[in-house]
Amino acid sequence: MKISIIGTGYVGLVTGVCLSDFGLDVLCVDKDKEKIKILNSGGIPIYEPNLKELLKKNTTEGRLKFSNDLKFAIEQSQVIFIAVGTPSNNDGSANLKQIEEVARQIAEYINDYKLIVNKSTVPVGTAQKVKNIISKYQTKKYPFDIVSNPEFLREGSAVYDFTHPDKIVIGSESSKALNIMQEIYRPLYLINTPFVITNPETAELIKYACNAFLATKITFINEVANLCEKVGADVHQIAQAMGLDGRISPKFLHPGPGYGGSCFPKDTKALYHFASEKEYDFKILGAVINANKRQREIMVEKIKRLVGSLKDKTIGILGLSFKPNTDDIRESASLDIIKLLLKEGARIKCYDPLAIENTKKILSDLTYCNDEYETAQDSDALVIATEWNQFRNLDLLEIKKILKTPILIDLKNLYEPTKMKELGFIYEGVGRL
Ligand code: NAD
Repeated sequence: MKISIIGTGYVGLVTGVCLSDFGLDVLCVDKDKEKIKILNSGGIPIYEPNLKELLKKNTTEGRLKFSNDLKFAIEQSQVIFIAVGTPSNNDGSANLKQIEEVARQIAEYINDYKLIVNKSTVPVGTAQKVKNIISKYQTKKYPFDIVSNPEFLREGSAVYDFTHPDKIVIGSESSKALNIMQEIYRPLYLINTPFVITNPETAELIKYACNAFLATKITFINEVANLCEKVGADVHQIAQAMGLDGRISPKFLHPGPGYGGSCFPKDTKALYHFASEKEYDFKILGAVINANKRQREIMVEKIKRLVGSLKDKTIGILGLSFKPNTDDIRESASLDIIKLLLKEGARIKCYDPLAIENTKKILSDLTYCNDEYETAQDSDALVIATEWNQFRNLDLLEIKKILKTPILIDLKNLYEPTKMKELGFIYEGVGRL
């Protein structure tokens, strides 16, 4: 079975590499020539653990190829995965231009039965929209099916997540399409992965419901943490106790500067917008979106409270990516906080193990450092903004010595407040005693 993946970003590339590792014949296509050039020379345009190794194995064994030639890809494949971006419009709605463009291209080049699988996160009704576009624009009427197959991988562990998913969701109205999908995912069926088979509308909404719920859970514990600071309670113990309740689970109960990344911010906004288009006021989601924005501001207020006026102060920031193990800085809390600090007149020194090059493209006026210690050197305060493992075991005595003032603001609660105070730091986490 020949498969094409249109869009070779985080989702498309991981999908293509992993499906080729399942033994399928995969062609990954992207309109970005530079990306395909990097991939054809054995490199990868993003960082993702194990991706490069798996890519090399499958290209060497001849199952995985990369191209800019969309016409060839559509013509030669029976199954076409769509994994293009669905960024936010200014009003928060999902921008479907990339999806619509691909649908038109499929209509132009379709030459036989095709199964079109949408992996991008899209509002309810998009499968139908893609179907309408292809039907409208194809010159000769070839049969095709559309399936909604949302992706749940997490950046930073994407290969593992794709090959060990909690579930596979398939929204289909055709038994032929369903059989092909089950054949593609047979290796996952064999390891007892649950399959949720439903209609495309439900599949589309499952993805948004999952992301919106996780964003809500993060926001909820952030709000509890903020309250803890006012009443002398410890959010870690609260989260631990909450997590012991099997109905709640301990995951996503880590307070911090608010969720970020390429999915939660845009998907919460898209669902909220989509609901209001359907004349439903999704109140809890509106509150989550606003509370998450406010959480960045609360973090900046915390920094100001400890440092004083930020004008001409140097703030060292550890962590730029939206989470560890990725170079992705989209909607990163760290970057939002940096922008707010710059507005207050602060100078920023910063370090991240992987995300410096991406950050330089949008924030050129920061001082980029080679490590944690260069960042702390002569800074008025050090802020931990992303929980990279290597920040968990800093040489604290050295950090204290080289900071201008020993202020450490730990937005990821990596350190124990009592110990930090014993060491002589002016230390604050989020919601901790
Ligand atoms: P991305 O922006 O990293 O990649 C999209 C790619 O599609 C880009 O390389 C772009 O050049 C390419 N593209 C756009 N139009 C094209 C066209 N007409 N022909 C060929 N290539 C085209 O996006 P991503 O992070 O991989 O996300 C893709 C989708 O998956 C989004 O809807 C996202 O919400 C969803 N998703 C993302 C994640 C994640 O962790 N990143 C997880 C689950 C779902």
